[in-house]
Amino acid sequence: MGRRRKSSHAWVYVIWGFNGVALLAILVIAVLYTTSLRASAADEPINTAQPGSTQKIPPTSYFLPTLTPNPFYTPPVFETSTPFVLTNGPLPAVIGFSLAGRPIDAYTFGAGEKEYLIVAGIHGGYEGNTIALANELITYINENPGAIPTDVTLYIIRNMNPDGEARDSGVDGRVNNNGVDLNRNFPTDNWTADWDRDGCWIYRPTTGGAYAGSEPETRSVMSFIRSHKIDAMISYHSAALGVFPGGVPWEESSKRLAKALGKATGYPYPPLDTGCEYTGTLADWAVENGVGAAVDMELNNHKGTDFEKNLKALKAFFNFQP
Ligand SMILES: [Zn+2]
Repeated sequence: MGRRRKSSHAWVYVIWGFNGVALLAILVIAVLYTTSLRASAADEPINTAQPGSTQKIPPTSYFLPTLTPNPFYTPPVFETSTPFVLTNGPLPAVIGFSLAGRPIDAYTFGAGEKEYLIVAGIHGGYEGNTIALANELITYINENPGAIPTDVTLYIIRNMNPDGEARDSGVDGRVNNNGVDLNRNFPTDNWTADWDRDGCWIYRPTTGGAYAGSEPETRSVMSFIRSHKIDAMISYHSAALGVFPGGVPWEESSKRLAKALGKATGYPYPPLDTGCEYTGTLADWAVENGVGAAVDMELNNHKGTDFEKNLKALKAFFNFQP
């Protein structure tokens, strides 16, 4: 027994001895290998042109001077200012791009013959709660397709002024990147670049544009409306003044729509008169260009989305017969 124990111990020493030798060998090989790598890297010739050899020259565009930027080039921004993703829903159509290259999206729900349009965010981040409302409506309708009657198609342009929204959520976020008030840029009969500011929004300098319809955001919405037969439209704003019918003077069916929406929501109709003269508005242009009825509708403040009120507004909207 004793002998056997002794011999088994000997085997353990032999095995561990082999292990030690093998480890040492691996270590030595590893050290030799890394030093040889370093040595061969140092030996490598520096890549210079050898006399008589030819070099492949990269495309010449690499060597164009880059000091003078192309003045006509606007760097595109491939993102929406507030990323909005509708899971398990339809993809939006991109109806145009802002000055900075941000997409202007339109969602479509339903496939009925009556076509209704909601536009939000025309005044950018300053009225960003209208964009938040549009997002909530889009999400709600996607989850409750029964909200759209079978005879209705609803389009929602969720953010007409994505650059303004990206810039600021206060007064600096109202205009587009040209400093234009998009709700004064539409080529209505009464468009003007400048207007009497009495009773109007005066917190920052703004213009109606270099000419009527000068802005890409305006033209995107114009071509969308022209390529459809819109029966009624709501352009969302904030805050507090109520529901303004389109048309100068107010057009009859727009007055009916404004009244119905005011009743459904509790927003003032007739709207509060601050004495401001509105020129070049989307709602006026829509009414002058074949849209059955159009309103500017203002949420109660600059923060909340008044979602429940505007769900009722949606029902009143669809019940409206232009
Ligand atoms: Zn507004």
